[in-house]
Amino acid sequence: MHKITDVSMEYDVLRENSKLARENYDLLKEHNIVSVDFMGSIGSGKTSLIVRMGEKLAAKGLRVGAIAGDVTGEDDFGRMKKAGIDACNCNTGKECHLDANMIHKSLHRMDLEKMDVLLIENVGNLVCPADFPLGTDIRAVVISVTEGDDMVRKHPEIFLHSDIAVLNKIDIADAVDVDPDIIAGDYSKLTGGRREIMRCSVKKDVGVDEIIAEMGL
Ligand code: MG
Ligand code: ZN
Repeated sequence: MHKITDVSMEYDVLRENSKLARENYDLLKEHNIVSVDFMGSIGSGKTSLIVRMGEKLAAKGLRVGAIAGDVTGEDDFGRMKKAGIDACNCNTGKECHLDANMIHKSLHRMDLEKMDVLLIENVGNLVCPADFPLGTDIRAVVISVTEGDDMVRKHPEIFLHSDIAVLNKIDIADAVDVDPDIIAGDYSKLTGGRREIMRCSVKKDVGVDEIIAEMGL
């Protein structure tokens, strides 16, 4: 986790991030690119969802780019590449979240002229990514039934900072003894009844088209 003990320093860090996020947003808009930041724990299925969406969007004739944010390694980057997505690997080193500056650098390594949609996978973590907007059009949080039925109650901040919430792996809810209705109810309550969590099984290709439609892609 990032360690910022000085409150004024934290304020400066977040302010600088917001400024760079705005620049990323403007750069992406200049190129007519729709962008999504996927946040969520390790194992929630962020990479699988991005790969599945990438395939579906490519089938619709859209040119898809992705940024794989990980502390280290090339596993997710490799999966995206293999799926034919124009991916860029962004290793954060010790940081447990992506920030706008890292995305800024990644964008300069990508061919934005040849991209319609940019899917960004944030580092697996439900805490600090919420504090660091990247400049995307949409922020999405992905959880899975394997994480238990209390995720919304435990991490309200990230759900409140997101435009879309996805509940993945609903096909195995019974096996892990989790009732998706409880999670859906918590999310609905948190958002004042204004939003519904989007249930899906990336593996079984259930609900992914609905997520794409909700994102306006
Ligand atoms: Mg991943
Ligand atoms: Zn962090």
